[in-house]
Amino acid sequence: MKIDNSSALFERAKAVLPSGYTRQMVVTKPHPLYVSHGEGCWITDVDGNRLIDWVNNFSAQIHGHAKAEIVEAITEQASSVQSTTMPSEWEVKLAELLVERIPSVDKVRFMNSGTEANIIAVKAARAYTGKSKIAKMEGGYHGQYDLLEASYQPMPDAWGNIGEPNSVAYHPGTPQSLLDEVVCLPLNNIDAARAILRSRASEIAAVILDPWRLQVGMVEPQQDFLEMLREETEKLGIILIFDEVWCLRFGYHGYQGATGITPDMTTMGKIIGGGQPIGALGGKDEFMSVFALGEDGVPLIKHSGTFTANPMSLAAGYTAMELMTRDAFDALDSTNDRLREGLEAIRVDCELPGVVQGSGSVSALIMTNIPITDYRTLAFAAASGLLEKLGVFEKALLQQGVMTLRGGFVGSTPMTNDDIDFTLNGYRKAIEAVDK
Ligand code: PLP
Repeated sequence: MKIDNSSALFERAKAVLPSGYTRQMVVTKPHPLYVSHGEGCWITDVDGNRLIDWVNNFSAQIHGHAKAEIVEAITEQASSVQSTTMPSEWEVKLAELLVERIPSVDKVRFMNSGTEANIIAVKAARAYTGKSKIAKMEGGYHGQYDLLEASYQPMPDAWGNIGEPNSVAYHPGTPQSLLDEVVCLPLNNIDAARAILRSRASEIAAVILDPWRLQVGMVEPQQDFLEMLREETEKLGIILIFDEVWCLRFGYHGYQGATGITPDMTTMGKIIGGGQPIGALGGKDEFMSVFALGEDGVPLIKHSGTFTANPMSLAAGYTAMELMTRDAFDALDSTNDRLREGLEAIRVDCELPGVVQGSGSVSALIMTNIPITDYRTLAFAAASGLLEKLGVFEKALLQQGVMTLRGGFVGSTPMTNDDIDFTLNGYRKAIEAVDK
């Protein structure tokens, strides 16, 4: 694989960017490959390497790259108006689409990222309940908000009792007073999580979790755990927030539609922007009323922003979501079923440890015999070399023209059976290369 042009760019970058780049998760060491252009599910770097894109910008590019309808919507909007303080019809259209599809959503607010959606959701929950603490899962990721980064990746010496996990800083400099506002829950441990919620209900404004997958698809919340959260939060006057920033790609009605569990609020992002920056918070009328003007003409939560609800993101997002019909979701799932079947066949043939995990359009062969059910078991697997193994394997896949997320796969609608076969072929070769 040629990397001369990427190397030259990286040399320039180091002088003006700390560590040489802004995105933390780059697929190659010692430096990232710099992008030239993308088309469908393929992306080409500045050295002309053509890679099948199974990262899809952390799930956002559900239609891959340069989808004609989305390019047209963006181009038309750019030549009409890019950003303004005036609302646009796109805002109404995308809100109508989300209200129609996502069970918990009666009303919507738009913002520019999933992180921002979670920030505003926390504000709304606090304003509605008058309580300040937020409960989250140990190991849960919700973006770059220091409050919700608590206990994202704690080291074992900081974990505390499984029945009452500590709230641990992710970054140096995080104030203890902020960590004190986080109540950490053990994922999939029904009795312990229920006991914490019951004993601290008077302080907790909201419980937030990604209901589908934590930590790059490796840990899945169990249905009975989600049911317990729904039942308890309802009884205890706590708002249940599903962070569907990632998992809205699970299906036409989001992940909540598949589980039949309806939260009070839902945060969204990624695919609803059609490749442009976006975030959204939706919820039942009752909870979203904190954004409505009161009798004095002032809302409880004054939420705004220079690029909030900008027409470029909304036009691209509406176009992308309109293309995601029920049939489009079914087709996407069946292409990814084929991938999972192929991965399982390779696992058996090559006598690899582990299990093929995933559903919908997200899959991974998790190469460990340690059953991963929560953050702590994932950390044990990581300590026994899982992440190193995935890192080595990710690089070997790249050499085969397959770009993955730590060896995991996030699919897109342009992918065909031929693309799956190309990927599986590359997978076999990568295993052989790593074995040597
Ligand atoms: N929540 C979840 C579950 C995510 O996976 C992500 C991003 O990966 C975020 C929130 C943050 O979204 P953004 O990167 O748009 O801020």
